[in-house]
Formats: sequence, structure tokens, C-alpha cells
Amino acid sequence: MGPSHALSGASVWLAGSWAANHFAGYEQSPLAVGVGAVVCAGAALLPDLDLSGKVTRNQGGATVARTFGVFSLFAAEVIEKVSLGIYSASRMPRDPRRTNGHRTFTHTLVFAGGIGWGTALLCARYGKWAVLGVMFLMAGLALRGLFDRWAERAGWLIVTLTSALVALLTATHLPGGRGYPMLGVAVGVGCVVHLFGDMITRSGVPLLWPIPLGARTWRMIGVPDGIAIRAGGPGEIFVLRGLFTMIAALAVVAMFAPGVLQDIDLDAWAGG
Ligand SMILES: [Zn+2]
Repeated sequence: MGPSHALSGASVWLAGSWAANHFAGYEQSPLAVGVGAVVCAGAALLPDLDLSGKVTRNQGGATVARTFGVFSLFAAEVIEKVSLGIYSASRMPRDPRRTNGHRTFTHTLVFAGGIGWGTALLCARYGKWAVLGVMFLMAGLALRGLFDRWAERAGWLIVTLTSALVALLTATHLPGGRGYPMLGVAVGVGCVVHLFGDMITRSGVPLLWPIPLGARTWRMIGVPDGIAIRAGGPGEIFVLRGLFTMIAALAVVAMFAPGVLQDIDLDAWAGG
């Protein structure tokens, strides 16, 4: 699911930037749009950092947990255990007992909003230094998701060095002001995109925690099994990824090279 999550994050951000420009006159530089798309793609993988592996043997965990080698595997272990703690402490009698924290706290709107808001605050307060840190983490996740085969072949050290370079370039070139809080928005939006992605696959997510629904604080919300998409199945890979890529490409062209779209003679296509 990694590449689909990352692709959906990037395309939602690009389409949203186009819409904000087209309908509300909110203009962004190509750099700002690109940075937002990378952050949103990375954040669309962030909730799965709760899938822990075996740190001591350096294996297991979600693809994202291996982004920064054993360091992110360790982080995933901690995030999983903390999530399990939050689950156990806030569950109601009808919520099942769990021994693993995957798809709990990091898969809620509260988490998405909190981490987005926290990122925005951090960037507003610490400026370039915060941008450096946020970009480093998000670029790593985005590379791992968007270029999964390359990342697998290159190994975590190359991914880490590339992320550091992207972070450095962003911190030195992205102007402050509204560009910085926008990173927080991109992180929050990316997490929400992940939640919707998980909801259309079978298991659903505890989206509305801690609001009790049917005497459960951890009610799983998702689409019915009949129309759910099988994770990794041909439906997901060909249809969804193709669709997201097309949306992303169209949004970029519409924003930065609108002439291209006008030049395509639709009548000629229709008339053959
Ligand atoms: Zn997930």
C-alpha cells in the first residue's frame, strides 16, 4: 500500500493547490507547491509508522519503518507501544483487547490534526531549523513511498542522504511567512489522505476516536467488505495509481503551463 498512499498524498496536494489558485486566487510559487506535495506524500505514510518490526534483527515493520534503517524501526516500535497504551487506557468494555497498537492512535483524526498543528507551530517558532527537520523526515518517507523500487535498491543510507539534501535545499530556498505554516497543513492533509486510503481497504480505521459510538471509543470505520479494495490487488495498483498520477500531472500542467491544455484541440479528438 505504500506507493498508493504516497501517490494519493501528492496528487491531493497538487489538485488542492490548483483549486485554491483557480477558485480562491491563492497563488503559490512552483517551489512552494513542490515542497507541499513532497510533504503531503510523506505524511500520507506517517500513520503506518505504528507498524513495528523486530528492531534487534533489523527486519519486519512497514516499508516506511525501514526508511531510516534501524533508527526508524526503533521509532516505529516506540510509536506502536505508545499507541497500544493509549488504546488500552481509553478503550470501553465493548472494544476488544489488543496486544498490538497498529491502526489505533495514529489512525485517528485527532492524531492527524494534532501532528499538523504541531508541525505548523514548530515551523512558526523555530523557522528554518524546524523546516530542516520536517523536510528531512517527510522527504525520506516520500522517497520511500514514491520510488519504492529505487529506495529498496539504494538502501536506507542513500535515502537518508538524499532526504538531507532535499531538506537543506528547502530550508535555504523556501521563503518564510506563509510558506512555513503551510508545511503543517500539508502534514495534516497527508495523514487524513492516509486514513481515507485505509478506509477503502477492508479493515477500516478508528477515525472518530475518542467520540464513543455504540459504546465503543475505538469503533472501526470503513466501507462495506463488498466494495472494499483489496490492498495490493490489481484494482489498487492499475486503476488507483493511474488515476492519481493523471490527477497530479493535470494539476501541475493547469497551474504552471495552462497553455498546453488550451492547445489540445478537443474537437479534433472527438471528430477523429
Ligand atoms: Zn495505515
